[in-house]
Amino acid sequence: LMQLSVPLNFIGFVYREIRQGLTDIEEMFALLEVEAEVKDPPGAPALVVREGAIRFENVRFGYDPQREILKGVSFEVPPGKSVAIVGPSGAGKSTISRLLFRFYDVSAGRILIDGQDIASVRQDSVRAAIGIVPQDTVLFNDTIAYNVRYGRVDATEEDVERAAELAQIASFIRELPGGFGAMVGERGLKLSGGEKQRVAIARTILKAPPILVLDEATSALDTHTEQDIQTALDLVSKERTTLTIAHRLSTIINADEIIVLKAGQIVERGSHRSLLAAGGLYAEMWAMQREATEAEETLRRAREAD
Ligand code: ATP
Repeated sequence: LMQLSVPLNFIGFVYREIRQGLTDIEEMFALLEVEAEVKDPPGAPALVVREGAIRFENVRFGYDPQREILKGVSFEVPPGKSVAIVGPSGAGKSTISRLLFRFYDVSAGRILIDGQDIASVRQDSVRAAIGIVPQDTVLFNDTIAYNVRYGRVDATEEDVERAAELAQIASFIRELPGGFGAMVGERGLKLSGGEKQRVAIARTILKAPPILVLDEATSALDTHTEQDIQTALDLVSKERTTLTIAHRLSTIINADEIIVLKAGQIVERGSHRSLLAAGGLYAEMWAMQREATEAEETLRRAREAD
């Protein structure tokens, strides 16, 4: 059984091996045999997306039967709204996004998109409806234009440049030797985490999916980059149903609802303000993150003074 959270390097490896003819990211996962986990029921219809409403109904799941990871999770993301999931490491946050993408089937409960159980419709139609901006983006050994266009292969040059602009990466690209024709990836120019993430955002802007899943990077980015990325994310998630797996709380204070997950269960939910006022786990996490940020700032200032 292949494990999805582990093999980013492995994906890179597989990718290099199969680059020829690779037409979609899903094929990459197919090669990881994740597909074997879930099967389409015979004659399953395609998902019909109307508004892009997401609903988790008492979802239970474990990667292996002895260890349940999600223990009855229920929430809704209404069409066009944004919900953020926060919680301690290992709580099951990323697992929620994997289940929505149907990398695995739930062991009990249901996940619905616009009222249709995602287990009863074709997987490819579910995946086509969802855009993911992952923690770590795989770049192809090709031009940067190719890497952006990957979001929609028939996009014109203007579309590609416009998407890059919205993703706050166009001016960076234009300054590269070769501009949009610059080679990137393992064998080309290596981009930073923040730059790669903005390429992923540009791809997603081109794909224009009704549903968006943002799996936020754990790694700290500098304030300026973080603001650029936040601007790009706000643009791409505008009026789109958005589920954010958040590691830094500062980025989700405007979410319509924040769900606090702990050991596979929802322990708190509400707006940023109401959760702070409640003085529970969220308020505690917020205070801790504040302290960490301040400590980083102090360190940085001390270094700059040297
Ligand atoms: P973090 O904030 O650290 O990213 P998370 O809340 O996103 O954590 P998940 O990635 O959803 O946590 O993982 C929840 C639990 O499931 C963890 O204890 C992890 O060990 C386990 N787990 C995750 N992926 C797999 C897998 N592919 N196979 C087996 N167990 C897994």
